[in-house]
Amino acid sequence: MRLLHSTDLALRMLMRLAVADAPGRGGPPATGSAPTTRQVAEDMAVPYTHAAKVAARLTHLGLVEARRGRGGGLVLTEAGRTASVGALVREFEGEGDVVECEGATPCPLNSGCRLRGALRRAQEAFYAALDPVTVEDIVASPTGPLLLGLASHRSGPKTS
Ligand code: SF4
Repeated sequence: MRLLHSTDLALRMLMRLAVADAPGRGGPPATGSAPTTRQVAEDMAVPYTHAAKVAARLTHLGLVEARRGRGGGLVLTEAGRTASVGALVREFEGEGDVVECEGATPCPLNSGCRLRGALRRAQEAFYAALDPVTVEDIVASPTGPLLLGLASHRSGPKTS
């Protein structure tokens, strides 16, 4: 099962933001600033336009707050920090099956396929394995220190 690029991007951005404001929680030390969307995109090696769309969606979901003005940037909310990775993946992937049984040329087995049921159970097991994992969990060492290294290598003034 392969995740959509936007799903992976959302997780990468949440992970990057989780080390930007994580003081006193037993996780990696904070970087001490709210990175802009462009900075997060650069740190995580993703196109800015994709990152901007995903940031808007994460903000709409209440997982990220976009602060305006001088010193502004993206900030992970408490809901974002404790968000279930499984719930996030479900949200971004949608409700579709892992194979297209219907569509323009429906599969002739569509009305009574045991494979379809087995694949749905496997898909649910995949999500269920991710349900108890939180954003905070996935920035524990060694990932958190790696993320902090990416942030510390960035230099120059903030851009939008
Ligand atoms: S064989 Fe079954 S799972 Fe595969 S496309 Fe046809 S209906 Fe769907």
